[in-house]
Amino acid sequence: AALDAKASSRLGIITISYYLWTTFVAVVEGIILVSIIHPGGAAQKESTADSGRPIMSSADALLDLIRLMSGLAALDAKASSRLGIITISYYLWTTFVAVVEGIILVSIIHPGGAAQKESTADSGRPIMSSADALLDLIRNMFPANLVEATFQQYRTKIIPIMKSPKAAAITETTTRRLVIYGIQGDNGMDIQNFSLDLTPPPEIIFRSLPGSSDGMNVLGIVIFSATMGIMLGRMGSNGSPLVNFCQSLNEAVLKIVAVATCYFPFGIVFLIAGKILEMDDPTAIGKKLGFYAITVVLGLVLHGLFILPSMYFFITKKNPIVFIRGILQALLIALATSSSSATLPITFKCLLENNHIDRRIIRFVLPVGATINMDGTALYEAVAAIFIAQVNNYELDFGQIITISITATAASIGAAGIPQAGLVTMVIVLTSVGLPTDDITLIIAVDWALDRFRTMINVMGDALATGIMAHVFRREFTKKPCDEVPLICETKPMISI
Ligand code: ASP
Repeated sequence: AALDAKASSRLGIITISYYLWTTFVAVVEGIILVSIIHPGGAAQKESTADSGRPIMSSADALLDLIRLMSGLAALDAKASSRLGIITISYYLWTTFVAVVEGIILVSIIHPGGAAQKESTADSGRPIMSSADALLDLIRNMFPANLVEATFQQYRTKIIPIMKSPKAAAITETTTRRLVIYGIQGDNGMDIQNFSLDLTPPPEIIFRSLPGSSDGMNVLGIVIFSATMGIMLGRMGSNGSPLVNFCQSLNEAVLKIVAVATCYFPFGIVFLIAGKILEMDDPTAIGKKLGFYAITVVLGLVLHGLFILPSMYFFITKKNPIVFIRGILQALLIALATSSSSATLPITFKCLLENNHIDRRIIRFVLPVGATINMDGTALYEAVAAIFIAQVNNYELDFGQIITISITATAASIGAAGIPQAGLVTMVIVLTSVGLPTDDITLIIAVDWALDRFRTMINVMGDALATGIMAHVFRREFTKKPCDEVPLICETKPMISI
């Protein structure tokens, strides 16, 4: 509209011509690239789609990334702050370290039992290489828009080609590509209209693709929402209508969830009973669950008693035991409530009154931490996913382990600070490597206890990070009065996803 008003101006014409020209150049570049690499011209008919896939995936991911980044850059100029960047980087780092600890422990202890090697095709596991899984994961991390991420069933350019007669098949519908794994039968197939005329009729297993869980791209939504939340927080009063809307929606949903949780105890009884009935040897599974719980607790103890305090000591050169003594009350509340959000006011009070941290630092670092920093949850997600793989005799390769570490970090960022939120976001991790999501019911039995311990570590991670930031920014914050540091003082807690 603004341009129309000045329709006669040279600016409009030259800008549009320039855009047309750059688009044309891009098309020519694309044609040249395709002609050189020649993805569609492979000799074997079978591999046509397969060989074009990596280029398509990377190009799409890149486009999505650019879209997202240009949005970020435009908003970012306003309020970039060292504290924000350092805090978020530190949070991501500790979460990642927690995930790696979990992966190492679960690989050493192997609570899911000894692996008996099964052939991929026979185990019904998706035939997907690590590169496929990673590329698809990246694609799903950056949805072009929220609506698309919410409603798309499968967002992928991956087209696995039949590698074994018993294994995978593909088709492409008019609107989206659909991957079907695990076709049993070796007569070839016509699945254009899903009419599989094979004898005996094949067993078809539809599997969700990395980062997507039945019907939606959960990982994409988490990343989108986190970005949106951060940006809204930085927009100050301009962003507040949307922030208020999201907060009201959040509160209303939490109230609905509170009512729905009345049903949970009954639901869980039947879920677990159903799972036990399915098992050949329930006692063996009980034993495995015990070892799984021990692995998670060991990881949490290692992270909470060694890794986090050493980081605190290393950066501040102060005694971490004295600091932890100051937040003991918050840790106990976390243990009792299984909710880092519910513990937030107590953590605030402990840091302020016992550890004498600057109020301005607490106001920023702590709510951000309660929203995105959940080391305990991340560690647990990684252990649980690998445990489920072990129980199902799936051997994960290195690429899949990397995928688990990235998705476990994302899943912990996406988890709300409420009881057993981590159990819900487990779906992201499991689907990222094609593990069965219904096996979450396996770990529900011990989750009520593990949740308490991981919440304690989540709270401890946020509190120690606040202490570290207070030390790092001690000079900046001794002199400046509150109103000279607008970002710190104005920032509201971010929206929980
Ligand atoms: N209960 C945890 C918390 O509030 C989240 C989770 O891991 O379930 O921090």
